[in-house]
Amino acid sequence: MKIITHSDINAVKRAAKAARKTGSSLSYMQWLDHFARQNHQVSGFHELQKICDNGLLMSDDIQELSGGIVHCRFCGCNFVAQLDCDRAEHKKRHRQCEQFLSAMGYLPQQHDRRETTKRQGYMLMSSADTEQQRTGALAVLAGHFDRSLSAAIDGDYWRGHPDFDEYIAMALPNAGFTPAHIKSRLAAEFGEYPSFFNDSYWKPGRGKVARSAPPKDRNGTRKKLFMTLDLSQ
Ligand SMILES: [Zn+2]
Repeated sequence: MKIITHSDINAVKRAAKAARKTGSSLSYMQWLDHFARQNHQVSGFHELQKICDNGLLMSDDIQELSGGIVHCRFCGCNFVAQLDCDRAEHKKRHRQCEQFLSAMGYLPQQHDRRETTKRQGYMLMSSADTEQQRTGALAVLAGHFDRSLSAAIDGDYWRGHPDFDEYIAMALPNAGFTPAHIKSRLAAEFGEYPSFFNDSYWKPGRGKVARSAPPKDRNGTRKKLFMTLDLSQ
């Protein structure tokens, strides 16, 4: 079965909006139908939306668990496919993940994977090698960062979420799990925001303040970290 994503729907909406602005006599709805037919060979926009919704259940990402529960590997949702409210919840989360992925180019790790990353981090922190200790501390922070980001995707406030480098600076003052010498090394590297949060979740309204180190490449640190972790497994 053909899979239509939320981005496909948005592209049709954008095209219809642009076409409507040209002063044509067709309505927005008629343009939606036009571009749905032209770009996806369906009867109209309604059918396109229906295929998109069904696709969320038909996709290869859906894995059956027991008791009628299914798991979506893409967005990490567990839900009962027979229940309308569960399907609606999944759809919302899935869409938000699609939007995040298309804007940021990656998705935060899901719960199990985050736990593995944190375990790996604690193991590396117990090493005698300071380089490994640094990687370990970053891995634990990455687990917390991805959890905070995942909550931000659910709450639809991820657009304001700090990137990993900024998050490190915010989390460091309360990162009691990090050995003092590694903490000061990371503070010198990433800067430090004083008393930003103590529960490791970033929330809207916790604005940004000047910090002691210049901003870095937005996702470079996180990407590099996961490459190092993969190699050390
Ligand atoms: Zn999903």
